[in-house]
Amino acid sequence: MLPELPKEYEKKIVQMVYSDTGAIHLFCSVNERKFISLSDEFDLDGTENALEDLVKSDRVEKNSVAVLEVFSECIEEGIISGTERSSLSTDIAIRLKNFGEYKMCHVRAQLLKDEQNRITDIHFVILPYSEDLNFRRDILRKFTSDKSPELYGKRIRLMMDSHPDDEIAFIQFDVERFKLVNERYGVDKADDLLRFFNDSLELICRSDQPFCRLTADVFMIVTPFKERSELLDFIHRVESMLTGFNGMEYRLIFGVAIVDDRTLHTRRHGDNASLARQLIKGSAIENIGFYDSSMKTGLKKKQIIEENMQKALLNREFAMYLQPKYSISTGKIIGAEALARWIHPVKGIISPADFIPVFEENGFILKLDKFIWEEACAKLREQLDLGITPVPISVNISRTYINSFDVISELKALTQKYDIPVRLLELEITESQDTAGVEDIVKKMKNEGFTMLMDDFGSGYSSLNMLKSTPFDVLKIDRAFLEEFMDSDRGRKIIEHTISMSRDIGLGIVAEGVETSEQAEFLSRCGCDSAQGFYYSKPIPASEFNSRLVEVNK
Ligand code: C2E
Ligand code: MG
Ligand code: MG
Repeated sequence: MLPELPKEYEKKIVQMVYSDTGAIHLFCSVNERKFISLSDEFDLDGTENALEDLVKSDRVEKNSVAVLEVFSECIEEGIISGTERSSLSTDIAIRLKNFGEYKMCHVRAQLLKDEQNRITDIHFVILPYSEDLNFRRDILRKFTSDKSPELYGKRIRLMMDSHPDDEIAFIQFDVERFKLVNERYGVDKADDLLRFFNDSLELICRSDQPFCRLTADVFMIVTPFKERSELLDFIHRVESMLTGFNGMEYRLIFGVAIVDDRTLHTRRHGDNASLARQLIKGSAIENIGFYDSSMKTGLKKKQIIEENMQKALLNREFAMYLQPKYSISTGKIIGAEALARWIHPVKGIISPADFIPVFEENGFILKLDKFIWEEACAKLREQLDLGITPVPISVNISRTYINSFDVISELKALTQKYDIPVRLLELEITESQDTAGVEDIVKKMKNEGFTMLMDDFGSGYSSLNMLKSTPFDVLKIDRAFLEEFMDSDRGRKIIEHTISMSRDIGLGIVAEGVETSEQAEFLSRCGCDSAQGFYYSKPIPASEFNSRLVEVNK
């Protein structure tokens, strides 16, 4: 079944015919010297420059790659200035918002002209390639042969030689957590995405900007430039042209190495760009990293963590620590948070700040989280068996992978295995920009009876957004938020109102990182009675928790 054309395009197209061969015919009128494209309407008054400017401008919707390509051919062929050619054909990627799937198509554009040789109508014939394997193979060949690394290296050197006075940048990019894109949208769609990248780069990059697909989802572009701003503009252009394909959600991460020594092998600059790209991963805000030589030490640390993590799990080097949460008014323990510690036989305790980001990036966090969840359930079982009145333990869930496996079944199975009431296991999720994926999980978990805590409230830029859309039970005020805002009258008012707002919308509230009695008193005055922080207790080994609980709550 062919997709419907969205309403807004209809009025611009004089006639649209689906033929039995599967081709789509679009007849577009070019009245009053105006080209009517699928996505935009633009004035062609003037000459080829007008069109060229337009092709480069942001006015044309990113989605109309097809139309753009036809037009850019128009420019190259000199048709716009009125030569005799009247038909063009090319294989291109058609990508129309809301218009079914992205497809590789063969497009032929027939230009009808008046006596003055001005274009009056265009007849596009768009023939989608179905599952044409030969065609797919052709594209793959394009990826692997004429863009092979050796040839690519040669093209880079040629380009550098012909730009002796320019600066040169190696730009590498990939899709953040491409594995997740594969899982979420399926391998075929992820493949389409990579092909789309390749096709788009063909359009974006000039002949002196050689690009290549290096491996899976890693691409590289090498470009000459004069000013840093010119380079950044180029990267932003690539980013905006390549983002938002087919409604898919993904983020591109760029690493840039600027050549300071032209005698080095091009591969070295590529490696540096790769390092910059890998080190910026996991940053919520930045997605362009520039290489500098100090990066090599950071990488070493990361490598050590990655080489040792599997063994560490087997050797039980990871341990659950528990940090009690206290009632400010009664001084009793009302809960605890499970926090992972890596107790390395040689290095001692390694902080989560060092290993959690690495694990989140390479997926190992899934294993660690499951381990901690199980430890928490086992602890609760132990308390019940010992006749100690348990308090809920909250565990952290890394939101990075929250949609990639069945968290709910996993957690339910654990509560069943250890036969503990669901209400005793609470879940902390950090706020995130991608509220959509989290919202769904939070709702489902709540239906299963789990208590959901929004971690680190106030530390990011999406707190209120997430609060609005996602039905959390409890909000945890971030340590930094508390610390920074306590300093001024204005800040204290904000905390006070955050607390009263949470109460108004029926949310519980816990303050994290309470370090002083003043903070505790202030929170209590504002109506927040639950606190977690060094003022009360540091995280303690799980083995010490029972005696602390019994002692404090007796
Ligand atoms: P978080 O979940 O916000 O945990 C609270 C962090 O604040 C803990 O750091 C805790 O030790 C620290 N903290 C608590 N009270 C105070 C205080 O009064 N002063 C100061 N300066 N710090 C305080 P920790 O254990 O280093 O954990 C850091 C982050 O690592 C956690 O932040 C959490 O996001 C992550 N994390 C820790 N364990 C796990 C885990 O098992 N799974 C996942 N996914 N993330 C974890
Ligand atoms: Mg937490
Ligand atoms: Mg927190």
